[in-house]
Amino acid sequence: MATLIDGKAIAAKVRAGVRDGVLALVGSERGGGEPPGLAVVLVGVDPASQIYVRNKGKAAAEVGIKVFDHTLPETTTQAELMALVGRLNEDPRVDGILVQMPLPAHLDAKRVMRAINPWKDVDGFHPQNMGLLALGDPRFVACTPAGVMVLLEEVGCKLAGADAVVIGRSTTVGRPMALLLTAADATVTLCHSKTRDLAAVVGRADIVVAAIGRAELVKGAWIKPGAVVIDVGMNRPAAGAAGGKLCGDVEFAEAEKRASAITPVPGGVGPMTIALLLQNTLTSARRRSDRTR
Ligand code: NAP
Repeated sequence: MATLIDGKAIAAKVRAGVRDGVLALVGSERGGGEPPGLAVVLVGVDPASQIYVRNKGKAAAEVGIKVFDHTLPETTTQAELMALVGRLNEDPRVDGILVQMPLPAHLDAKRVMRAINPWKDVDGFHPQNMGLLALGDPRFVACTPAGVMVLLEEVGCKLAGADAVVIGRSTTVGRPMALLLTAADATVTLCHSKTRDLAAVVGRADIVVAAIGRAELVKGAWIKPGAVVIDVGMNRPAAGAAGGKLCGDVEFAEAEKRASAITPVPGGVGPMTIALLLQNTLTSARRRSDRTR
């Protein structure tokens, strides 16, 4: 039976480290005595986004990060949103800018993300930060894949030379995940919807990271005995199916019998994403003086 990777406990440890870091920064000359500042921008009334934003704001406040809330109406225009991003870019109290996705359909999310000052891009989605990661010289790394790396490290997973399979090539999870594992000397295969014989590819992996968004697509029987399985997926089946409960991309009950370690859903990767957002915000605050150069 696999060891359960306790994302909640590991995230709590990361958050405690951030809290200590914030205290040290506030007491130091370099930080100018100001706590890190995180601007959280929410446009519209998407219920899931409202919950995410509330949780991020609460977690930030708990570690001493100052939160600047910007909740805008659904009718916000592109020009208004760009103007707000411009103001936050210039605001010295703001170290990190988070624009909650998805944006309402009439807004161009790509343009907004590219307008964020890359030195305040704590989500790590700006092309400059993605480019630096690809070059092996990361500045801000997207929070979910960065969180997965912390989980792998915490369970003592040996990455150098390991065969790692990442399923999903989104710019927010799968792609940066593959780059991080490559940088850690794993041999990485990046799979997607056109991959042939996914079962066979997964069956060769020492490490499997599933970031697909399809409930239990990865079957337990595919997992190589002893593999480490990280399930990024968060799927809420229609009420009635699977009891309407949140589940991952991996068939947990079967995979758990073969893996050496596995993340549960919920309580695995999810808590890490917020913890790494806080960490990135602290890192940004520590770089204040670089930013103003
Ligand atoms: P996404 O942008 O929709 O990307 C999904 C990826 O899965 C795509 O690359 C797609 O391939 C691939 N895919 C779809 N069907 C497949 C199949 N049958 N076989 C192999 N690959 C397939 O999703 P995302 O934003 O990366 O998110 C993935 C999941 O992670 C979602 O459940 C999301 O809710 C969850 N998530 C969790 C957290 C967290 O904090 N825990 C954070 C972010 C995301 P193509 O490129 O070929 O279309």
